Amino acid sequence: MQLVRMDRIIEYNDELGYVTIEPGVTQRMLCEFLHQQGDKYWMDATGASQHCSIIGNTVERGCGHSPYGDHFAYACGFEVVLPDGECIQTGLGRYANATATPVYRWGVGPYIDGLFTQSNLGIVTRMTVWLMPKPDCFQAYLFSVDHDEQLESIVNALRPLRLNQTIKSALHIGNDYRILSSIQQYPWREAKGKTPLPPELLSQFSKKWDFGAWSGMGALYGTRTQVAEARKILRRALRGKVKVLRFVSERGLRLAERFQRPLQRITGRDIPRMLKMLRPVYNMLKGIPTDEMMASAYWRKRTAPPDPATPEKDGCGLIWTSALAPINGRHARTLADIAKKTVLEHGFEPGMTLTLLTERCMENIISVAYDRDVPGEDERAMACYRELIDRLSEHGYYPYRHGTHSLPEPFQVHPATQQFLQQLRTSIDPHGVLAPGRYI
Ligand SMILES: Cc1cc2nc3c(=O)[nH]c(=O)nc-3n(C[C@H](O)[C@H](O)[C@H](O)COP(=O)(O)OP(=O)(O)OC[C@H]3O[C@@H](n4cnc5c(N)ncnc54)[C@H](O)[C@@H]3O)c2cc1C
Repeated sequence: MQLVRMDRIIEYNDELGYVTIEPGVTQRMLCEFLHQQGDKYWMDATGASQHCSIIGNTVERGCGHSPYGDHFAYACGFEVVLPDGECIQTGLGRYANATATPVYRWGVGPYIDGLFTQSNLGIVTRMTVWLMPKPDCFQAYLFSVDHDEQLESIVNALRPLRLNQTIKSALHIGNDYRILSSIQQYPWREAKGKTPLPPELLSQFSKKWDFGAWSGMGALYGTRTQVAEARKILRRALRGKVKVLRFVSERGLRLAERFQRPLQRITGRDIPRMLKMLRPVYNMLKGIPTDEMMASAYWRKRTAPPDPATPEKDGCGLIWTSALAPINGRHARTLADIAKKTVLEHGFEPGMTLTLLTERCMENIISVAYDRDVPGEDERAMACYRELIDRLSEHGYYPYRHGTHSLPEPFQVHPATQQFLQQLRTSIDPHGVLAPGRYI
């Protein structure tokens, strides 16, 4: 079903910072719109393409990078078309003249918005999305550790800061495979055509690009005083635990961009390439979407990504899962070990990002990038995915969402819960009109 022509921004409220939009509104459209309105508010961007639907991501309960990164938590007032063609409103929208519909999530009575996320019970045709007031001060931070074993200690050191909201937004800690695949494609020549990537080559590249076994990135948002205080607390928490901790401001980044050649001469590092990578990620933390991340889907391809990237057309395979766990170094270690072992056994590179998603919960996004033009590779990647989610679930780690490749529901669901969901499904969509098997 195509909803791209439903692309209106129906309302923009300058006073309370929200927009009411249709499903065809993309990340880029909203970002440009807010810019035209004077950048008083920031949207939250994901790392997916600029042309992704804001509503599409929110109904998948997707997440971004700013303090408003839990998209479903900042959305309300849905208009939904049911499988029988009836159109309903959620929240206070059930009352025709309710003034608080776009500013109050819960409405009165049962809260039903969730039924239309990660489900096949209706099509969301309108939604209100809350926007983040542009903070007075914004600063990104980056850190890295040399050794894999240091992961537990940094996760445990960061947990209290996420919990007490010194760190207000998702904090991402990527492993060496993940960072390398975002910088360049598979080094086919150096690896002499061998896969998976030999460990000694990985460490060579890690030295060349100056990243460690794990590299973290996030941002601080607030008043000048709040950001200065948060910087101090973060520095204290990571002291002695990381190789390097850097803070990046707009001014600093612009200066580096201006003097990239002299900096390259002084440091001997490929500063222009590093800045080319850093800028889009930095912008994304401020809610500016980018297509740069799509290049990582070309990791195993032998041809360079075109501009703009067209991964589907170019046979790029990308399968990923995300495993949720309480924020704790012990869980981080188990998640990372299971993922690394399983993915390597299947002959792929285990690209991972551990994200401290909420105050209490983290996820490990594990992605397998492969070349669909290699015969049998789709099947091998799917076998790897299947084994990965089986091993993770045996240890109690389940994903926060399923990709369409995970149809039907891959896990055993508690029988009474399954029956309840089926009852909902058969009463709302008795003829199975909408996406049969998608979640329910
Ligand atoms: C490089 C890369 C980076 C990514 N980074 C992120 C990230 O940072 N955060 C993140 O969350 N995801 C990320 N993704 C995953 C994904 O691309 C995004 O979640 C993206 O927002 C999906 O948008 P879409 O427009 O393609 O949605 P679709 O694939 O069209 O929709 C997603 C699902 O929602 C359903 N749906 C869509 N619209 C509606 C509607 N109106 N009503 C009811 N159901 C609907 C669809 O049936 C589908 O099941 C990334 C992917 C890649 C390749």
